[in-house]
Amino acid sequence: MDSYERQSRTNVVIHCLICKSQDFFVRDNPKRILGILYLGLSLGCAYWTYGVSMLIGLFLFKWLSHRYSKITICYDCYTKYYNFPVNPLHKEYNLEFATKKEKEIRNIRKLPNLY
Ligand SMILES: [Zn+2]
Repeated sequence: MDSYERQSRTNVVIHCLICKSQDFFVRDNPKRILGILYLGLSLGCAYWTYGVSMLIGLFLFKWLSHRYSKITICYDCYTKYYNFPVNPLHKEYNLEFATKKEKEIRNIRKLPNLY
C-alpha cells in the first residue's frame, strides 16, 4: 500500500495535495480563541443569569476546543489542512527546519535560465 492509498483510506495527512511534499507542522487552530471569548462573556453575565450562562459558556468553550483542535500546515506551500486527524509524525513548527527548506527553494529559483 503506497502513501497515496494510505492517505485516502485513513484520512491522515501524509503528503501535500498541492506540492506533494511530506513535511508538515501542526499548530493550534486560531478559532479556539472564540471559545475563550464565549467563556469570558458567560462569566460576565453570570451575575444576572444566576450562573446559567456559565454552563452555556463552558459548553461552547469545550465544544470549540474539541471541534477546532489542531491544524496541519505544509512547510513548502503553507496549505492548511483542517479537520484531519493529526499524524503523530508531525511536530510543532521548527524554525531550523523551515530555514533549511527556504534555502532549498531559493536555490531552485537561483538556477540560470536555460533558454
Ligand atoms: Zn504543500
